[in-house]
Amino acid sequence: MIHPTPRLRFAPSPTGPLHLGGARTAMYNWAAARAMGGTFLLRIEDTDQARSTDASLQVILTGLRWLGIDWDEGPAFEGCGGGDYGPYFQMQRLPRYRAAADRLLAGGHAYPCYCTPEEIDVGRKELEAQKAGFYGYNGRCRNLTAEQRAAFERAGRRPNLRFRMPVARVLQVHDLVRGEVEVNTKELDDWVMLRPDGVPLYNFACVVDDIGMQITHVVRGEEHFLNGVKQHLLFEAFGAERPAFAHIPLILNKDGKKLSKRDADTNMLDYRDKGYPPEAVFNYIALLGWSFSGDRDLFTRQEMVEVFRIEGIGKSGAKFDEEKLRWMCGEYVRRWTPAECLERARPWLATVPAEAFTQHRAWLQNVIACYQERIALLGEFQDRIGWLLADPVADEAAQKNLAKDPASRQWLAAYADLLAAGNLPPSYPADRAGADEAVPLPSKKDAPEPVCAFDTPSRIEAATRAFTEQLGVKFGSFVHPVRAALTGTDKGPGLFDVVFLLGKDACVRRLRAAAAG
Ligand code: GLU
Repeated sequence: MIHPTPRLRFAPSPTGPLHLGGARTAMYNWAAARAMGGTFLLRIEDTDQARSTDASLQVILTGLRWLGIDWDEGPAFEGCGGGDYGPYFQMQRLPRYRAAADRLLAGGHAYPCYCTPEEIDVGRKELEAQKAGFYGYNGRCRNLTAEQRAAFERAGRRPNLRFRMPVARVLQVHDLVRGEVEVNTKELDDWVMLRPDGVPLYNFACVVDDIGMQITHVVRGEEHFLNGVKQHLLFEAFGAERPAFAHIPLILNKDGKKLSKRDADTNMLDYRDKGYPPEAVFNYIALLGWSFSGDRDLFTRQEMVEVFRIEGIGKSGAKFDEEKLRWMCGEYVRRWTPAECLERARPWLATVPAEAFTQHRAWLQNVIACYQERIALLGEFQDRIGWLLADPVADEAAQKNLAKDPASRQWLAAYADLLAAGNLPPSYPADRAGADEAVPLPSKKDAPEPVCAFDTPSRIEAATRAFTEQLGVKFGSFVHPVRAALTGTDKGPGLFDVVFLLGKDACVRRLRAAAAG
Protein backbone atom coordinates (compact mmCIF):
# COMPACT_ATOMS: atom_id res chain seq x y z
CA MET A 1 0.00 0.00 0.00
CA ILE A 2 1.38 3.41 -0.97
CA HIS A 3 -0.33 5.20 1.91
CA PRO A 4 -3.29 4.32 4.14
CA THR A 5 -5.27 7.37 3.02
CA PRO A 6 -5.50 8.83 -0.50
CA ARG A 7 -2.95 11.47 -1.43
CA LEU A 8 -3.52 13.48 -4.61
CA ARG A 9 -1.56 16.30 -6.09
CA PHE A 10 -1.79 19.12 -8.57
CA ALA A 11 1.65 19.71 -10.05
CA PRO A 12 1.69 22.93 -12.06
CA SER A 13 4.74 24.30 -13.80
CA PRO A 14 4.92 28.02 -13.00
CA THR A 15 5.58 28.94 -16.61
CA GLY A 16 2.29 30.72 -17.24
CA PRO A 17 -1.08 31.46 -15.66
CA LEU A 18 -3.58 28.99 -14.27
CA HIS A 19 -5.65 28.23 -17.34
CA LEU A 20 -8.94 26.39 -17.77
CA GLY A 21 -7.39 22.96 -18.24
CA GLY A 22 -5.09 23.34 -15.25
CA ALA A 23 -7.93 24.62 -13.10
CA ARG A 24 -10.01 21.58 -14.04
CA THR A 25 -7.14 19.20 -13.25
CA ALA A 26 -6.62 20.88 -9.89
CA MET A 27 -10.33 20.77 -9.19
CA TYR A 28 -10.73 17.05 -9.96
CA ASN A 29 -7.73 16.14 -7.81
CA TRP A 30 -9.02 18.38 -5.03
CA ALA A 31 -12.55 17.02 -5.23
CA ALA A 32 -11.32 13.42 -5.31
CA ALA A 33 -9.07 14.00 -2.29
CA ARG A 34 -11.88 15.71 -0.37
CA ALA A 35 -14.42 13.07 -1.43
CA MET A 36 -12.21 10.24 -0.21
CA GLY A 37 -11.16 11.99 2.99
CA GLY A 38 -7.61 12.20 1.67
CA THR A 39 -4.93 14.83 1.31
CA PHE A 40 -4.59 17.31 -1.53
CA LEU A 41 -1.17 18.75 -2.15
CA LEU A 42 0.43 21.19 -4.50
CA ARG A 43 3.81 20.47 -6.00
CA ILE A 44 5.54 23.15 -8.01
CA GLU A 45 7.35 21.72 -11.01
CA ASP A 46 9.79 24.54 -11.61
CA THR A 47 12.63 22.70 -13.31
CA ASP A 48 12.20 24.64 -16.54
CA GLN A 49 14.24 27.47 -15.13
CA ALA A 50 14.17 29.57 -18.26
CA ARG A 51 10.37 29.77 -18.22
CA SER A 52 9.45 29.45 -14.54
CA THR A 53 8.72 32.72 -12.75
CA ASP A 54 7.55 33.73 -9.34
CA ALA A 55 4.92 35.92 -10.99
CA SER A 56 3.36 32.86 -12.65
CA LEU A 57 3.47 30.97 -9.37
CA GLN A 58 1.59 33.78 -7.61
CA VAL A 59 -0.97 33.88 -10.40
CA ILE A 60 -1.53 30.13 -10.13
CA LEU A 61 -1.88 30.16 -6.34
CA THR A 62 -4.18 33.18 -6.45
CA GLY A 63 -6.28 31.56 -9.18
CA LEU A 64 -6.70 28.36 -7.17
CA ARG A 65 -7.73 30.22 -4.04
CA TRP A 66 -10.11 32.39 -6.07
CA LEU A 67 -11.83 29.23 -7.27
CA GLY A 68 -12.13 28.07 -3.68
CA ILE A 69 -9.53 25.32 -3.96
CA ASP A 70 -7.39 24.83 -0.87
CA TRP A 71 -4.41 22.54 -0.35
CA ASP A 72 -3.23 20.72 2.73
CA GLU A 73 0.41 20.53 1.72
CA GLY A 74 2.51 22.69 -0.53
CA PRO A 75 3.58 26.32 -0.78
CA ALA A 76 2.39 28.46 2.11
CA PHE A 77 -0.28 30.81 0.77
CA GLU A 78 -3.39 32.31 2.36
CA GLY A 79 -3.54 29.74 5.13
CA CYS A 80 -2.87 26.77 2.83
CA GLY A 81 0.30 24.71 2.58
CA GLY A 82 2.86 23.22 4.91
CA GLY A 83 3.22 19.44 5.12
CA ASP A 84 5.80 16.78 5.96
CA TYR A 85 6.72 15.70 2.45
CA GLY A 86 8.44 18.88 1.31
CA PRO A 87 10.10 20.74 -0.05
CA TYR A 88 7.26 21.13 -2.53
CA PHE A 89 9.31 22.99 -5.13
CA GLN A 90 11.26 20.66 -7.37
CA MET A 91 14.26 22.96 -7.62
CA GLN A 92 14.66 22.50 -3.88
CA ARG A 93 14.74 18.71 -4.25
CA LEU A 94 17.80 18.29 -6.51
CA PRO A 95 19.77 16.03 -4.11
CA ARG A 96 16.82 13.61 -4.07
CA TYR A 97 16.88 13.31 -7.86
CA ARG A 98 20.63 12.71 -7.88
CA ALA A 99 20.29 9.97 -5.27
CA ALA A 100 17.39 8.36 -7.14
CA ALA A 101 19.36 8.48 -10.41
CA ASP A 102 22.30 6.77 -8.69
CA ARG A 103 20.00 3.93 -7.65
CA LEU A 104 18.84 3.46 -11.24
CA LEU A 105 22.44 3.57 -12.53
CA ALA A 106 23.45 0.95 -10.04
CA GLY A 107 20.55 -1.29 -11.10
CA GLY A 108 21.36 -0.87 -14.80
CA HIS A 109 18.11 0.98 -15.51
CA ALA A 110 19.92 4.13 -16.55
CA TYR A 111 23.15 5.02 -18.30
CA PRO A 112 25.25 8.10 -18.96
CA CYS A 113 24.94 9.51 -22.45
CA TYR A 114 27.80 11.62 -23.77
CA CYS A 115 26.26 12.53 -27.11
CA THR A 116 26.22 16.18 -28.09
CA PRO A 117 22.98 17.64 -29.48
CA GLU A 118 24.58 17.57 -32.94
CA GLU A 119 25.44 13.89 -32.64
CA ILE A 120 21.92 13.11 -31.49
CA ASP A 121 20.59 14.94 -34.50
CA VAL A 122 22.83 13.05 -36.90
CA GLY A 123 21.71 9.79 -35.29
CA ARG A 124 18.06 10.72 -35.74
CA LYS A 125 18.57 11.58 -39.40
CA GLU A 126 20.27 8.25 -39.98
CA LEU A 127 17.28 6.44 -38.50
CA GLU A 128 15.02 8.45 -40.77
CA ALA A 129 17.10 7.61 -43.85
CA GLN A 130 16.95 3.95 -42.93
CA LYS A 131 13.18 4.22 -42.43
CA ALA A 132 13.74 2.47 -39.13
CA GLY A 133 10.19 3.18 -37.95
CA PHE A 134 11.64 4.72 -34.83
CA TYR A 135 13.08 8.21 -34.79
CA GLY A 136 14.21 9.14 -31.28
CA TYR A 137 17.61 8.73 -29.72
CA ASN A 138 19.55 5.97 -31.49
CA GLY A 139 20.99 4.45 -28.30
CA ARG A 140 24.62 5.13 -29.18
CA CYS A 141 25.72 5.32 -25.52
CA ARG A 142 23.52 2.48 -24.34
CA ASN A 143 26.25 -0.08 -24.15
CA LEU A 144 29.47 1.87 -23.73
CA THR A 145 32.31 0.08 -21.99
CA ALA A 146 33.94 1.52 -18.88
CA GLU A 147 36.93 2.55 -21.03
CA GLN A 148 34.76 4.37 -23.56
CA ARG A 149 33.03 6.26 -20.74
CA ALA A 150 36.34 7.15 -19.16
CA ALA A 151 37.55 8.45 -22.52
CA PHE A 152 34.53 10.72 -22.87
CA GLU A 153 35.05 11.94 -19.31
CA ARG A 154 38.69 12.67 -20.02
CA ALA A 155 37.62 14.64 -23.07
CA GLY A 156 35.58 16.81 -20.69
CA ARG A 157 32.12 15.62 -21.73
CA ARG A 158 29.49 15.76 -18.97
CA PRO A 159 26.80 13.12 -19.44
CA ASN A 160 23.04 13.31 -19.41
CA LEU A 161 21.54 10.32 -17.68
CA ARG A 162 19.14 8.34 -19.83
CA PHE A 163 16.55 5.81 -18.83
CA ARG A 164 17.14 2.44 -20.44
CA MET A 165 13.79 1.55 -21.99
CA PRO A 166 12.99 -2.13 -22.17
CA VAL A 167 13.19 -3.29 -25.78
CA ALA A 168 9.80 -3.58 -27.45
CA ARG A 169 7.44 -4.50 -24.69
CA VAL A 170 3.69 -4.45 -24.80
CA LEU A 171 2.35 -2.87 -21.66
CA GLN A 172 -1.13 -3.19 -20.26
CA VAL A 173 -1.85 0.15 -18.69
CA HIS A 174 -4.89 0.61 -16.52
CA ASP A 175 -6.40 4.06 -16.49
CA LEU A 176 -9.35 5.01 -14.31
CA VAL A 177 -10.86 7.04 -17.16
CA ARG A 178 -9.73 5.17 -20.26
CA GLY A 179 -9.85 1.64 -18.90
CA GLU A 180 -7.29 -0.94 -20.08
CA VAL A 181 -4.95 0.42 -22.73
CA GLU A 182 -2.29 -1.57 -24.52
CA VAL A 183 0.88 0.32 -25.40
CA ASN A 184 3.86 -0.92 -27.33
CA THR A 185 7.07 0.63 -25.97
CA LYS A 186 8.99 0.11 -29.20
CA GLU A 187 8.40 3.67 -30.36
CA LEU A 188 9.67 5.17 -27.15
CA ASP A 189 13.37 5.98 -27.00
CA ASP A 190 15.78 6.07 -24.08
CA TRP A 191 14.82 9.41 -22.59
CA VAL A 192 16.90 11.85 -20.59
CA MET A 193 16.19 11.81 -16.84
CA LEU A 194 18.84 14.07 -15.45
CA ARG A 195 20.99 16.75 -17.01
CA PRO A 196 24.66 17.18 -16.21
CA ASP A 197 23.86 20.11 -13.92
CA GLY A 198 21.65 17.85 -11.79
CA VAL A 199 18.34 19.33 -12.96
CA PRO A 200 15.85 16.55 -13.68
CA LEU A 201 13.47 16.34 -16.60
CA TYR A 202 9.74 16.14 -16.08
CA ASN A 203 9.09 12.38 -16.23
CA PHE A 204 11.89 11.56 -13.86
CA ALA A 205 11.24 14.30 -11.30
CA CYS A 206 7.54 13.52 -11.41
CA VAL A 207 8.00 9.86 -10.54
CA VAL A 208 10.67 10.46 -7.89
CA ASP A 209 8.29 12.92 -6.25
CA ASP A 210 5.15 10.85 -6.67
CA ILE A 211 7.00 8.05 -4.88
CA GLY A 212 8.52 10.39 -2.28
CA MET A 213 5.24 12.15 -1.59
CA GLN A 214 3.33 8.85 -1.48
CA ILE A 215 0.88 9.88 -4.16
CA THR A 216 -1.92 7.35 -4.53
CA HIS A 217 -3.84 8.78 -7.50
CA VAL A 218 -2.62 10.86 -10.44
CA VAL A 219 -5.33 12.77 -12.26
CA ARG A 220 -4.10 14.93 -15.13
CA GLY A 221 -4.63 15.92 -18.76
CA GLU A 222 -4.69 13.38 -21.54
CA GLU A 223 -1.61 15.02 -23.09
CA HIS A 224 0.37 13.22 -20.39
CA PHE A 225 -0.86 9.76 -21.31
CA LEU A 226 2.36 8.74 -23.11
CA ASN A 227 4.42 10.23 -20.31
CA GLY A 228 2.38 7.96 -18.08
CA VAL A 229 3.73 4.98 -20.01
CA LYS A 230 7.33 6.09 -19.47
CA GLN A 231 6.52 6.73 -15.84
CA HIS A 232 4.94 3.31 -15.54
CA LEU A 233 8.31 1.74 -16.43
CA LEU A 234 10.14 4.05 -14.08
CA PHE A 235 7.97 3.04 -11.12
CA GLU A 236 8.78 -0.52 -12.06
CA ALA A 237 12.52 0.20 -12.19
CA PHE A 238 12.35 1.72 -8.73
CA GLY A 239 10.41 -1.30 -7.51
CA ALA A 240 7.70 1.08 -6.35
CA GLU A 241 3.94 0.59 -6.37
CA ARG A 242 2.27 2.69 -9.03
CA PRO A 243 -0.46 5.19 -8.17
CA ALA A 244 -3.79 4.85 -9.95
CA PHE A 245 -3.73 6.96 -13.11
CA ALA A 246 -6.57 8.94 -14.66
CA HIS A 247 -5.98 10.90 -17.86
CA ILE A 248 -8.78 13.31 -18.53
CA PRO A 249 -9.87 14.31 -22.03
CA LEU A 250 -8.94 17.62 -23.57
CA ILE A 251 -11.19 20.65 -23.37
CA LEU A 252 -12.41 21.44 -26.88
CA ASN A 253 -13.77 24.57 -28.50
CA LYS A 254 -17.27 24.60 -29.94
CA ASP A 255 -16.00 23.22 -33.24
CA GLY A 256 -14.56 20.21 -31.47
CA LYS A 257 -10.94 21.37 -31.85
CA LYS A 258 -8.43 21.78 -29.06
CA LEU A 259 -9.31 24.89 -27.05
CA SER A 260 -6.93 27.74 -27.74
CA LYS A 261 -6.41 31.21 -26.34
CA ARG A 262 -8.61 32.57 -29.12
CA ASP A 263 -11.59 30.57 -27.89
CA ALA A 264 -11.64 31.59 -24.25
CA ASP A 265 -9.93 33.51 -21.52
CA THR A 266 -7.45 30.98 -20.41
CA ASN A 267 -6.20 32.83 -17.35
CA MET A 268 -8.39 32.34 -14.28
CA LEU A 269 -7.52 35.84 -13.10
CA ASP A 270 -9.03 37.34 -16.25
CA TYR A 271 -12.31 35.76 -15.23
CA ARG A 272 -11.88 37.16 -11.76
CA ASP A 273 -11.11 40.63 -13.08
CA LYS A 274 -14.16 40.71 -15.34
CA GLY A 275 -16.38 39.83 -12.42
CA TYR A 276 -17.27 36.22 -13.21
CA PRO A 277 -18.53 34.83 -9.89
CA PRO A 278 -15.94 32.26 -8.78
CA GLU A 279 -18.63 29.79 -7.67
CA ALA A 280 -20.06 29.86 -11.18
CA VAL A 281 -16.67 29.42 -12.85
CA PHE A 282 -15.93 26.54 -10.49
CA ASN A 283 -19.31 24.99 -11.20
CA TYR A 284 -18.89 25.39 -14.95
CA ILE A 285 -15.34 24.01 -15.10
CA ALA A 286 -16.36 21.04 -12.96
CA LEU A 287 -18.83 20.10 -15.68
CA LEU A 288 -16.19 20.05 -18.42
CA GLY A 289 -15.85 16.30 -18.44
CA TRP A 290 -17.89 15.27 -15.43
CA SER A 291 -21.54 15.45 -14.57
CA PHE A 292 -23.38 15.92 -11.32
CA SER A 293 -25.96 13.30 -10.46
CA GLY A 294 -29.45 13.64 -11.88
CA ASP A 295 -28.43 16.04 -14.67
CA ARG A 296 -28.30 18.92 -12.25
CA ASP A 297 -26.25 21.78 -13.61
CA LEU A 298 -25.90 23.98 -10.55
CA PHE A 299 -24.19 22.75 -7.43
CA THR A 300 -21.85 23.97 -4.74
CA ARG A 301 -18.30 22.84 -4.15
CA GLN A 302 -19.50 20.92 -1.12
CA GLU A 303 -22.18 19.16 -3.14
CA MET A 304 -19.57 18.20 -5.72
CA VAL A 305 -17.31 16.78 -3.06
CA GLU A 306 -20.16 14.66 -1.73
CA VAL A 307 -20.64 12.81 -5.01
CA PHE A 308 -17.35 13.09 -6.90
CA ARG A 309 -15.63 9.92 -8.10
CA ILE A 310 -12.65 9.82 -10.47
CA GLU A 311 -14.32 6.94 -12.35
CA GLY A 312 -17.18 9.32 -13.15
CA ILE A 313 -14.97 11.50 -15.37
CA GLY A 314 -16.08 11.20 -19.00
CA LYS A 315 -14.03 9.64 -21.78
CA SER A 316 -14.77 12.14 -24.51
CA GLY A 317 -13.57 15.72 -24.84
CA ALA A 318 -15.79 18.34 -23.24
CA LYS A 319 -16.70 21.41 -25.25
CA PHE A 320 -16.17 24.82 -23.75
CA ASP A 321 -19.22 27.00 -24.27
CA GLU A 322 -18.89 30.64 -23.27
CA GLU A 323 -22.65 31.15 -23.55
CA LYS A 324 -23.31 28.43 -21.01
CA LEU A 325 -20.67 29.81 -18.70
CA ARG A 326 -22.33 33.24 -18.87
CA TRP A 327 -25.74 31.70 -18.27
CA MET A 328 -24.38 29.99 -15.20
CA CYS A 329 -22.84 33.24 -13.94
CA GLY A 330 -26.22 34.92 -14.33
CA GLU A 331 -27.89 32.12 -12.37
CA TYR A 332 -25.53 32.72 -9.47
CA VAL A 333 -25.90 36.50 -9.61
CA ARG A 334 -29.69 36.20 -9.52
CA ARG A 335 -29.60 33.96 -6.47
CA TRP A 336 -27.88 36.49 -4.26
CA THR A 337 -29.81 39.01 -2.22
CA PRO A 338 -29.38 42.56 -3.54
CA ALA A 339 -27.29 43.34 -0.45
CA GLU A 340 -24.94 40.45 -1.17
CA CYS A 341 -24.81 41.30 -4.84
CA LEU A 342 -23.96 44.92 -4.07
CA GLU A 343 -21.12 43.84 -1.80
CA ARG A 344 -19.78 41.50 -4.50
CA ALA A 345 -20.11 44.09 -7.24
CA ARG A 346 -18.56 46.86 -5.21
CA PRO A 347 -14.98 46.52 -6.55
CA TRP A 348 -16.33 47.14 -10.07
CA LEU A 349 -18.53 50.11 -9.14
CA ALA A 350 -15.68 52.57 -9.42
CA THR A 351 -17.81 55.53 -10.44
CA VAL A 352 -20.17 55.16 -7.49
CA PRO A 353 -18.95 57.53 -4.75
CA ALA A 354 -17.83 55.73 -1.60
CA GLU A 355 -20.40 57.40 0.64
CA ALA A 356 -23.21 56.00 -1.50
CA PHE A 357 -22.36 52.60 -0.05
CA THR A 358 -23.13 53.84 3.43
CA GLN A 359 -25.56 56.75 3.12
CA HIS A 360 -27.54 55.52 0.12
CA ARG A 361 -27.20 51.83 0.59
CA ALA A 362 -30.87 50.95 0.21
CA TRP A 363 -31.05 52.98 -2.98
CA LEU A 364 -27.96 51.27 -4.39
CA GLN A 365 -29.37 47.89 -3.50
CA ASN A 366 -32.51 48.71 -5.39
CA VAL A 367 -30.43 49.81 -8.36
CA ILE A 368 -28.55 46.51 -8.25
CA ALA A 369 -31.80 44.55 -7.82
CA CYS A 370 -33.11 46.09 -11.04
CA TYR A 371 -30.15 44.73 -12.97
CA GLN A 372 -29.64 41.37 -11.29
CA GLU A 373 -31.94 39.69 -13.81
CA ARG A 374 -30.16 41.27 -16.70
CA ILE A 375 -26.46 40.76 -16.16
CA ALA A 376 -24.12 37.81 -15.81
CA LEU A 377 -20.86 39.33 -14.65
CA LEU A 378 -20.28 41.60 -11.70
CA GLY A 379 -18.22 43.86 -13.93
CA GLU A 380 -21.30 44.60 -16.03
CA PHE A 381 -23.24 46.67 -13.50
CA GLN A 382 -20.95 49.64 -13.83
CA ASP A 383 -21.64 50.23 -17.52
CA ARG A 384 -25.38 49.89 -17.04
CA ILE A 385 -25.93 52.31 -14.22
CA GLY A 386 -24.10 55.38 -15.45
CA TRP A 387 -27.39 57.11 -16.36
CA LEU A 388 -28.43 57.07 -12.70
CA LEU A 389 -25.37 58.94 -11.52
CA ALA A 390 -25.09 61.67 -14.15
CA ASP A 391 -27.40 63.08 -16.82
CA PRO A 392 -26.76 60.97 -19.92
CA VAL A 393 -26.20 61.99 -23.52
CA ALA A 394 -28.91 60.39 -25.65
CA ASP A 395 -27.60 57.58 -27.84
CA GLU A 396 -28.81 56.95 -31.37
CA ALA A 397 -31.78 54.81 -30.35
CA ALA A 398 -32.87 57.36 -27.75
CA GLN A 399 -32.58 60.21 -30.25
CA LYS A 400 -34.79 58.30 -32.64
CA ASN A 401 -37.41 57.73 -29.98
CA LEU A 402 -37.36 61.39 -29.04
CA ALA A 403 -37.73 62.52 -32.64
CA LYS A 404 -40.44 60.06 -33.66
CA ASP A 405 -43.52 62.08 -32.75
CA PRO A 406 -43.31 65.90 -32.75
CA ALA A 407 -46.03 65.99 -30.06
CA SER A 408 -43.84 64.07 -27.64
CA ARG A 409 -42.13 67.25 -26.43
CA GLN A 410 -45.40 68.47 -25.01
CA TRP A 411 -46.01 65.14 -23.29
CA LEU A 412 -42.56 65.22 -21.80
CA ALA A 413 -43.06 68.76 -20.48
CA ALA A 414 -46.47 67.87 -19.08
CA TYR A 415 -45.14 64.70 -17.50
CA ALA A 416 -42.34 66.75 -15.93
CA ASP A 417 -44.96 69.04 -14.38
CA LEU A 418 -46.92 66.05 -13.11
CA LEU A 419 -43.87 64.52 -11.44
CA ALA A 420 -42.77 67.91 -10.07
CA ALA A 421 -46.09 68.24 -8.27
CA GLY A 422 -46.12 64.63 -6.98
CA ASN A 423 -44.49 62.86 -4.07
CA LEU A 424 -41.71 61.12 -5.97
CA PRO A 425 -38.69 60.40 -3.74
CA PRO A 426 -35.78 62.82 -4.04
CA SER A 427 -33.00 62.10 -6.49
CA TYR A 428 -29.66 60.63 -5.51
CA PRO A 429 -27.59 61.89 -3.71
CA ALA A 430 -30.36 63.39 -1.57
CA ASP A 431 -31.37 61.16 1.28
CA ARG A 432 -33.68 58.51 -0.11
CA ALA A 433 -33.26 56.11 2.75
CA GLY A 434 -36.90 56.11 3.82
CA ALA A 435 -38.29 55.64 0.33
CA ASP A 436 -35.99 52.81 -0.68
CA GLU A 437 -36.13 50.85 2.50
CA ALA A 438 -39.91 50.85 2.30
CA VAL A 439 -39.92 49.61 -1.27
CA PRO A 440 -37.67 46.74 -2.19
CA LEU A 441 -37.61 46.31 -5.95
CA PRO A 442 -38.82 44.90 -8.24
CA SER A 443 -42.21 45.86 -6.92
CA LYS A 444 -44.52 45.36 -9.84
CA LYS A 445 -46.66 43.04 -7.79
CA ASP A 446 -47.73 45.88 -5.49
CA ALA A 447 -51.38 46.72 -5.84
CA PRO A 448 -51.63 50.01 -7.77
CA GLU A 449 -53.30 52.24 -5.25
CA PRO A 450 -54.07 55.99 -5.35
CA VAL A 451 -53.40 57.21 -8.85
CA CYS A 452 -51.68 60.44 -8.01
CA ALA A 453 -49.10 59.02 -5.63
CA PHE A 454 -45.53 58.39 -6.80
CA ASP A 455 -43.99 56.67 -3.85
CA THR A 456 -43.66 53.22 -5.37
CA PRO A 457 -42.94 52.07 -8.92
CA SER A 458 -46.38 50.51 -9.24
CA ARG A 459 -48.10 53.69 -8.12
CA ILE A 460 -45.96 55.66 -10.54
CA GLU A 461 -47.16 53.30 -13.24
CA ALA A 462 -50.82 53.71 -12.29
CA ALA A 463 -50.49 57.48 -12.14
CA THR A 464 -48.70 57.56 -15.46
CA ARG A 465 -51.32 55.40 -17.16
CA ALA A 466 -54.08 57.65 -15.89
CA PHE A 467 -52.11 60.66 -17.08
CA THR A 468 -51.67 59.30 -20.62
CA GLU A 469 -55.39 58.63 -20.80
CA GLN A 470 -56.08 62.22 -19.88
CA LEU A 471 -53.59 63.38 -22.49
CA GLY A 472 -55.14 61.07 -25.04
CA VAL A 473 -51.78 59.47 -25.87
CA LYS A 474 -51.29 55.78 -26.36
CA PHE A 475 -49.29 54.42 -23.44
CA GLY A 476 -46.95 52.54 -25.77
CA SER A 477 -46.10 55.72 -27.69
CA PHE A 478 -45.57 57.65 -24.49
CA VAL A 479 -43.07 55.39 -22.73
CA HIS A 480 -40.38 55.36 -25.43
CA PRO A 481 -39.59 59.09 -25.48
CA VAL A 482 -39.85 59.16 -21.67
CA ARG A 483 -37.33 56.36 -21.34
CA ALA A 484 -35.10 58.08 -23.88
CA ALA A 485 -35.27 61.33 -21.94
CA LEU A 486 -34.58 59.70 -18.60
CA THR A 487 -31.92 57.14 -19.46
CA GLY A 488 -30.44 58.34 -22.76
CA THR A 489 -31.01 54.88 -24.22
CA ASP A 490 -33.76 52.44 -25.13
CA LYS A 491 -32.66 49.74 -22.71
CA GLY A 492 -32.68 49.23 -18.98
CA PRO A 493 -35.06 48.26 -16.21
CA GLY A 494 -38.82 48.81 -16.26
CA LEU A 495 -39.66 52.45 -16.87
CA PHE A 496 -41.34 52.93 -13.49
CA ASP A 497 -38.37 51.49 -11.67
CA VAL A 498 -36.35 54.02 -13.66
CA VAL A 499 -38.57 56.91 -12.56
CA PHE A 500 -38.60 55.73 -8.98
CA LEU A 501 -34.85 55.23 -8.72
CA LEU A 502 -34.00 58.42 -10.55
CA GLY A 503 -36.16 60.49 -8.23
CA LYS A 504 -37.94 63.74 -8.61
CA ASP A 505 -35.28 66.36 -9.41
CA ALA A 506 -33.43 64.32 -11.98
CA CYS A 507 -36.64 63.13 -13.68
CA VAL A 508 -38.03 66.63 -13.92
CA ARG A 509 -34.74 68.10 -15.09
CA ARG A 510 -34.18 65.45 -17.78
CA LEU A 511 -37.78 65.52 -19.03
CA ARG A 512 -37.68 69.31 -19.33
CA ALA A 513 -34.33 69.26 -21.06
CA ALA A 514 -35.64 66.72 -23.58
CA ALA A 515 -38.84 68.73 -24.04
CA ALA A 516 -36.79 71.84 -24.78
CA GLY A 517 -34.80 69.78 -27.35
N1 GLU B 1 4.00 19.86 -14.48
C1 GLU B 1 3.15 19.03 -15.26
C2 GLU B 1 2.17 19.92 -16.00
O1 GLU B 1 2.01 21.05 -15.61
C3 GLU B 1 2.44 18.05 -14.35
C4 GLU B 1 1.86 16.88 -15.01
C5 GLU B 1 1.46 15.82 -13.99
O2 GLU B 1 0.48 16.07 -13.28
O3 GLU B 1 2.15 14.81 -13.90
O4 GLU B 1 1.58 19.53 -16.97
